Amino acid sequence: LFVTLEGGDGSGKSTQASLLEQWLAEHGRAVLRTREPGGTPVGVEVREIVLHHRGDVAPRAEALLYAADRAHHVATVVRPAIARGDVVVQDRYVDSSVAYQGAGRVLDAREVRALSDWATEGLMPDLTVLLDLPWDVAQGRLQDARTRYDRLEAEAGEFHARVRDAYLGLAAAEPERFLVVDATLPVDEIAARISERVEPLL
Ligand code: C5P
Repeated sequence: LFVTLEGGDGSGKSTQASLLEQWLAEHGRAVLRTREPGGTPVGVEVREIVLHHRGDVAPRAEALLYAADRAHHVATVVRPAIARGDVVVQDRYVDSSVAYQGAGRVLDAREVRALSDWATEGLMPDLTVLLDLPWDVAQGRLQDARTRYDRLEAEAGEFHARVRDAYLGLAAAEPERFLVVDATLPVDEIAARISERVEPLL
């Protein structure tokens, strides 16, 4: 079983990934919790490049770097875990690229998707949880948390509005793969909705 979590910065993906991991473990499942970018040693270096040079990397180069990270991660970590029978709980995947590099950095969404399909040899999640959050709420959360997100000031809310709309469009196009959850709900309520959706897939 392959579950991905998607959403804008500050939407609570890591918190929910951790709660889902805990819930799965309580239900006796072996879990691999991982993330992109940065789910492998190679990926950690790719993550440093893209985040360090954030905004300065040409959009197509950025898309290729994320795709390279993904190709390596899928081949060396995700596929072996699925083959072992682990439940893979992953923070960000193909939909992040379509939303951020496609809508955010204004590349053709179909081309970005095709690049990811090539990188992953077509591996798609069984379930994708989209934590949907308006940017003004996310911004407040991120500032409160005093995170490293220097992009906050530098980038217009328009970027994040495009990313959010792209995510919602992806979810509307594939309702059977997506669970969309309002990320302003209490943490426990979000976790309950996610585990309810995961249970029949186990
Ligand atoms: O969610 P996480 O902290 O791993 O993301 C790191 C940063 O990389 C985030 O600010 C996210 O917006 C960005 N990102 C991106 N394109 C992707 C994946 C992540 O711009 N495909």
